[in-house]
Amino acid sequence: MLPFPPRISLARTPTPFENLNRVGLCNNAPRLWIKRDDLTGSGLSGNKVRKLEYVIAQALAEGCDTLITCGGLQSNHCRATALVGAQLGLSVHLVLREEGSGELDGNLFLDTLAGALVERIPRKEYFTSINEILDQRREDYASRGKKAYVIPTGASDEVGIWGYAQCARELVEDFKLHDLKRTVIACASGSGGTQAGLSLGAHYFLPGTKVIGYAVCDDSEYFNNKVREDITRCCTRYGIELEVSNLAIETRDHAIGPGYAKGYPSLFECIINTARQSGLLLDPVYTGKGFHGLLKDIEAGLYADVDDLVFVHTGGIFGTFAFKEQFGFEPKD
Ligand SMILES: *Cc1c(COP(=O)(O)O)cnc(C)c1O
Repeated sequence: MLPFPPRISLARTPTPFENLNRVGLCNNAPRLWIKRDDLTGSGLSGNKVRKLEYVIAQALAEGCDTLITCGGLQSNHCRATALVGAQLGLSVHLVLREEGSGELDGNLFLDTLAGALVERIPRKEYFTSINEILDQRREDYASRGKKAYVIPTGASDEVGIWGYAQCARELVEDFKLHDLKRTVIACASGSGGTQAGLSLGAHYFLPGTKVIGYAVCDDSEYFNNKVREDITRCCTRYGIELEVSNLAIETRDHAIGPGYAKGYPSLFECIINTARQSGLLLDPVYTGKGFHGLLKDIEAGLYADVDDLVFVHTGGIFGTFAFKEQFGFEPKD
């Protein structure tokens, strides 16, 4: 039905699908489910692993020996790439944007542990010239006889999109087993690839199911465009006949707070409550904002005509450690 390209196996799938209502996180909620993509692995865990299955297959098909990618200093995507590279014997070069405390903690610590070459770039320079920097690094490798594959931010492009189209296909069984009806799937959106893949996949495998992204950085308009663009490029590249303008693409952007990777009090409160009431670990950059936004919308009655709500837990546990001072557990001196 959809022309899935070759993939290599990296993620532990199918991931568990669990009911959350027993924990009383929210009143008058529809049935609330969680797709545990935080359990796609241990170090190599979270949503980027599903995308990398397709992206790395493409890199290997092109004969590449080196992976170059970019992100914030605490990027989960970069950590996953560092670990995949180590697993497959590929060199990894990460171009990271300075952010937060800058300490060797969380994902950045794991990048280093996994032996990736870490290059840190001031924020301004990163935002103005990341594409040029990545091209330059690829040329540097070429001049030394190596072949580098550049993976875009979050592996969100027309290749990485297949990871979450595949997740939508996996959800068919979960939906059947638990008899889900009138369903909405929600996820955190950072570079849009998860939302794009789920939107594409749901259209084919879960007809009638709506996908809603909860933005963690840019606004709804940005993500609606980005998702549409990723899907359109995918259709062009793989010859899919789909009228993309007919797809319902929806993003909610009220849970971003002060900006990307910036927390706020009710967010930390939500993360703490969720951990204590359900044992689920959410992170302040992605899943915390996504889930917080979703709970607020449930309380506001936005999902009153929905029977089943599925939150895709996209991982992010290591990033949480870089925020530990902001939870207010220890008095500051
Ligand atoms: C990258 C990431 C997201 C966002 O996924 P995108 O496909 O980039 O929108 C969500 N949660 C976690 C934990 C992530 O690392």
